[in-house]
Amino acid sequence: MSLAICTYGNPILRKKAVEVTEITGEIHELAKDMLETMYEERGVGLAAEQVGRTERMYVIDIPSDSDMDDEGQRENPDIAMPMVLINPKVTGHTEDVQVGPEGCLSFPDIFANVERWYEVDAEYMDLEGHIRKIHAKGLLARAIQHELDHLDGILLVDRMSHVKKVAIGGKLKRLVKETKRAL
Ligand SMILES: [Zn+2]
Repeated sequence: MSLAICTYGNPILRKKAVEVTEITGEIHELAKDMLETMYEERGVGLAAEQVGRTERMYVIDIPSDSDMDDEGQRENPDIAMPMVLINPKVTGHTEDVQVGPEGCLSFPDIFANVERWYEVDAEYMDLEGHIRKIHAKGLLARAIQHELDHLDGILLVDRMSHVKKVAIGGKLKRLVKETKRAL
């Protein structure tokens, strides 16, 4: 079942998500619905808060043709997609940062350059309850950091430059107004 996306201005996006203590049928169902919703909306990542839930989990699917570095080499050839990450943590990172354009399904038609670690170590629980540790690069590393922000109530608007925020101020205001009207 595809779910409705919570857009900027919906207070749930500012909540801190709650750890998942048990992988129940409900969690499986939520993961399935979140993947379906993400595909329908053509996103590469989606956090539970974006569909009005407070579980500490998100889904990611980076298409293989987007998982490329500047020389056309796959960045994460050994990581299978899609991913369901439960109680995820970033446990380490290299010093390299990359500034790149970022979008968010909760901010339709808004893109902003955001600085992120280029490579991160992440730890999470999968749907079978196994703890997984990965080293991710590039767009996958960016998505892991972006979605983790969601679980802490941090949004794209908090990561963009002040100049950008001012430049799209009208657009943001309209979005909040539309969101509040639909609540
Ligand atoms: Zn987002």
